[in-house]
Amino acid sequence: MNTHKVTLIPGDGTGPEICDVTVKVIEATGVKIAWETADAGADAMGKYNTPLPDSTLDSIRKNKVALKGPITTPIGTGFRSVNVAIRRELDLYSCLRPCKTYAGIKSKYDNIDLVIVRENTEDLYAGVEFSPDSAEAEQIIALSKNKIRPHSAISIKPISKEGTERIVRFAFEYAVKNNRKNVTAVTKANIMKFTDGLFLDTARAVAKEYEGKIAYQERLIDNMCMQLVQKPETYDVMVLPNLYGDIISDLCAGLVGGLGVAPGANFGKDYAVFEAVHGSAPKYKGLNKVNPIALILSGVLMLDYLGEKEAAQRLERAVATVIKEGKQVTYDLGGTAGTRETGQAIINKL
Ligand code: NAD
Repeated sequence: MNTHKVTLIPGDGTGPEICDVTVKVIEATGVKIAWETADAGADAMGKYNTPLPDSTLDSIRKNKVALKGPITTPIGTGFRSVNVAIRRELDLYSCLRPCKTYAGIKSKYDNIDLVIVRENTEDLYAGVEFSPDSAEAEQIIALSKNKIRPHSAISIKPISKEGTERIVRFAFEYAVKNNRKNVTAVTKANIMKFTDGLFLDTARAVAKEYEGKIAYQERLIDNMCMQLVQKPETYDVMVLPNLYGDIISDLCAGLVGGLGVAPGANFGKDYAVFEAVHGSAPKYKGLNKVNPIALILSGVLMLDYLGEKEAAQRLERAVATVIKEGKQVTYDLGGTAGTRETGQAIINKL
């Protein structure tokens, strides 16, 4: 059997404890993985004077696959998001977030099976921002011909044809490979005619290539939010610019039982980084409290990507059984088990 080389980034906050459990669970499937641990986040700051050391990016470039715990981003001040930096440095342009209901989860909905494809490199996440009264902000205010108030802070929202083409194509290719029926492009193109307008025009052009194979529809982001709450079962794959994709990811996680069960993956042309949707939940750090299932399900996506399809299916079934039995689940799923106990229960079902 092949040994896969994978970079392991434990992250910070509750990241290291859920990574620890996830590694044990993945190893219990019998798949051989040589993990290369790499630092990033608040804890790396003290050691390397940067939250994202080059050695970490080099490790992902070498191994091409990484499993990553969440990383804290200070709000307002301090370093910029390490998560965003990893996606940008490695050009991990597509973020895949499947959201489905597992039997036993207490949710207002059942039978949800949605897939979010979020653009990962453009939009308001590009990090092009100008502080109030900076020379750049003043130039833009002048250019805006009084549409922007004096002394405003400014964030730029870039959306390109190339960036949109590749994310929409990713969504359609995913739909074809995974027997999905429908892709919905989500924008606010009625208001942002140039940026979201370009996203929409480009999505339409790509959708034409898949005519007859995959159905295509469009929604405005505000209406999409309402529709997802009222009739989520009518949607399938959704493709969105970065910020809307971020927000809809949490909305959909809420539909299927919360962030504790929402996995994710970031793909580029050359690399793949698997991580849960949730953040570092720092208030629970070291308490053996948070749900490891979101990262374990991200591990299922990773095993599938590595070609270990049987192990991926077996692991997903084990997770589903533990959720259904409801005896060894964490607080967010209504149980009293800790992170490690949930992990062990999943191992026992493999
Ligand atoms: P969060 O996802 O950490 O937490 C939101 C809520 O969900 C909290 O109540 C938390 O306790 C709960 N929660 C999160 N994960 C859980 C789990 N596995 N099991 C049970 N409950 C869970 O979001 P936040 O509080 O907005 O962010 C905390 C930090 O994480 C911030 O610094 C943020 O920037 C960062 N963040 C990182 C990533 C990433 O690494 N990809 C993603 C989102 C947020």
